[in-house]
Amino acid sequence: MANELRFQVVGEAFKKKPLPVKAPSERPCEYFGKYVFNREKMYKYLPKGVYDKMIDVIDKGAQLDRKVADQVAAGMVQWAKENGVTHYTHWFQPLTEGTAEKHDSFIEHDGKGGMIEEFSGKLLVQQEPDASSFPSGGIRSTFEARGYSAWDPTSPVFIIDDTLIIPTVFISYSGESLDYKAPLLRALKAVNVAATDVCHYFDPEVKKVTSNLGWEQEYFLVDEGLYAARPDLLLTGRTLMGHDSAKNQQMDDHYFGSIPERVAAFMRDLEIHALMLGIPVKTRHNEVAPNQFELAPIFEDANLAVDHNMLLMSLMKRVARKHGFRALLHEKPFAGINGSGKHNNWSLSSDTGILLHAPGKTPEQNLRFATFIVETLMGVYRHNGLLKASIMSATNAHRLGANEAPPAIISSFLGKQLSELLDHIEKADKEDLFTMDGKQGMKLDIPEIPELLIDNTDRNRTSPFAFTGNRFEFRAVGSEANCASAMIALNSAVAEALVNFKRRVDAKILEYTGRAEYAEGTGHSPKYHAIIDILREDIKVCKPIRFDGNGYSDEWKAEAAQRGLDTETSCPVIFERYLDKESIQMFESLGVMTKKELEARNEVKWEIYTKKIQIEARVLGDLSMNHIIPVATTYQTQLLRNVERMRTIFPAAKAEELSARNLKLIEEIAQRTATIETKVEELVAARKVANKIDDEHAKAIAYHDTIAPYFDIIRRQIDKLELIVDDSLWPLPKYRELLFIR
Ligand code: ADP
Ligand code: MG
Repeated sequence: MANELRFQVVGEAFKKKPLPVKAPSERPCEYFGKYVFNREKMYKYLPKGVYDKMIDVIDKGAQLDRKVADQVAAGMVQWAKENGVTHYTHWFQPLTEGTAEKHDSFIEHDGKGGMIEEFSGKLLVQQEPDASSFPSGGIRSTFEARGYSAWDPTSPVFIIDDTLIIPTVFISYSGESLDYKAPLLRALKAVNVAATDVCHYFDPEVKKVTSNLGWEQEYFLVDEGLYAARPDLLLTGRTLMGHDSAKNQQMDDHYFGSIPERVAAFMRDLEIHALMLGIPVKTRHNEVAPNQFELAPIFEDANLAVDHNMLLMSLMKRVARKHGFRALLHEKPFAGINGSGKHNNWSLSSDTGILLHAPGKTPEQNLRFATFIVETLMGVYRHNGLLKASIMSATNAHRLGANEAPPAIISSFLGKQLSELLDHIEKADKEDLFTMDGKQGMKLDIPEIPELLIDNTDRNRTSPFAFTGNRFEFRAVGSEANCASAMIALNSAVAEALVNFKRRVDAKILEYTGRAEYAEGTGHSPKYHAIIDILREDIKVCKPIRFDGNGYSDEWKAEAAQRGLDTETSCPVIFERYLDKESIQMFESLGVMTKKELEARNEVKWEIYTKKIQIEARVLGDLSMNHIIPVATTYQTQLLRNVERMRTIFPAAKAEELSARNLKLIEEIAQRTATIETKVEELVAARKVANKIDDEHAKAIAYHDTIAPYFDIIRRQIDKLELIVDDSLWPLPKYRELLFIR
């Protein structure tokens, strides 16, 4: 019987001991990047000229020609063979989330009846996976069935087990992107060009601006035996039912507690693997909810950081299994306690330092700092709906729609100091702000933001886009998501704002040049006046995005709507923001994505949304009918027998009195199971209607509006039954077992 399974898996989970972890004999800095073909290995395995060319390709975006590629491949393969590698794969990031790979061995016929191992530049640079089953939103019709993957030389090749893994973009034959990496690289290029141009106002020597990403990955661990006994977790990644545990996160004791031993062993093992693959993991700690944890590396260039996050997520799943756990990356595996996100710490930096770090040294640097802050806010303001679309998914909707960090409205928390600075620039008299060139009377002093504030954890946790001293923290990203989606939208929005800024400043400089009040010797340069005037304009325009209050409150929802911010909560409707005129215009003008690509990608988003809800609906229906109702009915029959027997022993009135509670339970079970049955029937009927819709957009909306609402209704009845049905009969591991067993 099912309940025996439950007690068995719970008992086993209790007995499990931490797995001993074999630590390498070297120190972490020695084995860091051991399995990565990084610069150090390139230097060792490539001829000098080839190495120099590769560095140009990586640092300066130079073209990689075939001859060089052949030589790189030769060096790479030599290194790989020394590490026991026999296969290679192009690794890419399809729109389904996760990563995809197809492994080929190095083996080729030698033409003399034997075999040789071969790996040419051609194979390194390009591969044609038969990828007809990857979603393409109709760009690549199935009979063509071919896209190709192309090496991204800015992300180094690495080894897992016997395979050389080559990070690639995935593109259709007609050149459209079918993945996350291609548009990400284009967005990073756009922001590099736009930001470098703007930096030149302040420092003509700046050569390159890099977009940085430091992600913080939250996740849950569940014992693998318990996981296997929960078909909902297994099939959907979340529990579709389960009553609150009497104790959950109220005490906050998990957050401050020490890491449980079995988990600590897992973390150590994961970190060793991650470091060997060049992922600079640094921080580990418990999170708010029981069995919830976080891992964060040191920030890196956004493209590499995205690859590292994808790699880390798959590594995490593998290592968790080794330790008898399952890692849950779903945004909301358990109702009633916190879900998981992936804070994206984002900043821009040039060869001269981080552009969002308030320097407080020279007026030029301070003005540059203000410029990048204000134009980031402009981008976020103008595209707040799109940014929300970039982090939206069927799974993340459980965090965003609900009363949980962060709310389904994008706003930005700046904190007191930065808000005062912007207010000062906006309101100060013109004379107050100058003069810049002469350095005297300069009132644009930005107080040095103390390091304490940068590290201060007591920040506004309810803000989806918070300034934290030297970066913005985009907190709305889902734990399961590919960070690239958010990084494409954010970097594009900021790139566009910077392009617009530059255009207007240049026009103003022309306008001011030659005017007596800005003439040489007055201490008033046309350039700085132009910049400040445009900033003052923009500070006013983007003000609605600034909000330091409580993002969870109902007042904020009302106020945000008044301010004209996007307050939509329906996931499939939010995806429409990708096809807004302003979004298409932005992506096309920056060369990040075309309208056709955006349309195709939205088809995929809607389709994935529908499928996720569809699977959940099926699982919920099956569990209701096959697990819950039979068990509830069995218990009800026991109660009925008891009542009958009471009547045989006691006089009628006495029997009635003694059976009052059981009679009430019998009735409650009858009512609740009847409701479940009716609602499951309605759910199935609604699905049948929705499934007839051909248009992916309309279908996703139907799934959202007419099917998803049943989940909570049905679940509520089941959770109540869980409370009254005999514990020894209940088939599914309960929350208290899933969450408190290590
Ligand atoms: P929190 O206090 O928010 O939990 P953590 O220290 O756990 O912060 O993680 C912060 C993340 O932000 C790390 O990945 C860190 O490397 C990254 N980070 C720090 N400074 C910057 C920056 N200027 N730009 C981007 N990421 C940064
Ligand atoms: Mg954080």
